Amino acid sequence: MFLLCLLLLLLVSVSSSLNLPPSYKISDQHIDIATSAMEYISNSPSPNHAVQNGINMLQDQQFIKLDERKPWPNLQPGGKYYFEREAPLGSSLVAFTVGKKYRSESCFKILGAHTDSPNLRVKPKSRRTASDLTMLNVETYGGGLWHTWFDRDLSLAGKVMVRRSGGRLEHKLVDLKKSILRIPNLAIHLQTPTEREAFKVNKEDHLQPILAGYISKALTGDNNVTKWTEGHEPLILNSLASYLGCTVNEIVDFELHLYDTLGCKFNGMGEEFITGSRLDNLMGCFVCLRSLLNHGSVGLDSDYDVSLVALFDHEEVGSSSTTGAGSTIIEESVKRISMSLKGEDEPKDYLEAKIRNSFVVSFDMAHAEHPNYSSKHEKYHCPKLNSGVVIKTNDNQRYATNGQTGYIFREVGRRCGQDIQEFVVRNDCACGSTIGPIISSRTGMRCVDVGTPQLSMHSIREMGGTKDVKMAVDVLEGFLREFRDIDDEMKGEEE
Ligand SMILES: [Zn+2]
Repeated sequence: MFLLCLLLLLLVSVSSSLNLPPSYKISDQHIDIATSAMEYISNSPSPNHAVQNGINMLQDQQFIKLDERKPWPNLQPGGKYYFEREAPLGSSLVAFTVGKKYRSESCFKILGAHTDSPNLRVKPKSRRTASDLTMLNVETYGGGLWHTWFDRDLSLAGKVMVRRSGGRLEHKLVDLKKSILRIPNLAIHLQTPTEREAFKVNKEDHLQPILAGYISKALTGDNNVTKWTEGHEPLILNSLASYLGCTVNEIVDFELHLYDTLGCKFNGMGEEFITGSRLDNLMGCFVCLRSLLNHGSVGLDSDYDVSLVALFDHEEVGSSSTTGAGSTIIEESVKRISMSLKGEDEPKDYLEAKIRNSFVVSFDMAHAEHPNYSSKHEKYHCPKLNSGVVIKTNDNQRYATNGQTGYIFREVGRRCGQDIQEFVVRNDCACGSTIGPIISSRTGMRCVDVGTPQLSMHSIREMGGTKDVKMAVDVLEGFLREFRDIDDEMKGEEE
């Protein structure tokens, strides 16, 4: 009887698995790598956390730390290195490996992504009260879908500077984790029909979160506090001080971000979706780092070139900063790495030639087709979740892809056994942009803009495909492995 039941169960499970559509077939490998990505994203509530968690991944594989503010040691073929800009606890990161066959004609294979996401940040004077409640004074960062921030359990994370007795300055990462803040919706009964219809958020008036059910006692100069300390909410300063084991007066400045305490989750009947904050673009940061780590452990013996990952801050606000894609990060990296590896017989213009031979894959999230708004998509170019990496093209140069760079990436996909999806925005819709055009116009390097598809971009909880994580890592690792061969083939055709 037991055997009969077992047989029946087996038959039922085989037949039901045969009926599953392809997008439901999520392998253990897909789940494993998606789980790692979700942990990375959930544990990175600020760009500074995203960089530090990235460094932890690199240090696990013996990448050597460099300091931008000091002369570098001689880099070695076969070596693996990283540095952060504005260390310690910076918000942008560069990691690279040098192929063991490095030589004067070698180029740079660059993967770029960004560490920032739209969010709410604590203002330089955070103390604020309303209706006998303690609020927190916050500033909007980037173009968030702000209505999604209402009625969430929010917390605070970021970096804090502490001056210890004796004058020593320390930089500390903080993540309070506890749900301490909430931005409440206005009840439907208190809105006129017109207000309900045109639900509009005033970014200054409506997005201030409640912190406490009473008005906190202000810190004043009588307690030996500075003007800066006086402007801040004492409840927050006290929480930070107890988290860091210091006094309130030892805290001299901070960068604090609000975030949703609900981390990433699997979703869908077959766990085929991932939901969570900051998929745009911490998913990009994760897949770029992971593919460099994979390449660094198996691909350096036969590699002639430098494989480099650059994670920039400030993409959501235009990239013009010391840590953004509009900064000198790529130029200086290429120059310093090349100088350090320079042989004695290098021609005078070797650096310019290197730049012309180099290639950037700018990885940022792409728009998947929305089932309830499919008319918003150009129907011949609308990517699907769980169907792999997307090339983004815009001839008006909102994306840097062109015929040559698109072909190279598609050829990488072909060699990895993957179909690459294509995205073009409708002609009657404004197109987003990303770091690709900024890097290529600043450096003169060839570039393709790609990403994995997602829904709800810039919501506090976005949605992506589980399978897309592994597919992206595989194709980016494939780029680091295959680029030299594909590019040589292409140059042969030109001659
Ligand atoms: Zn993005």
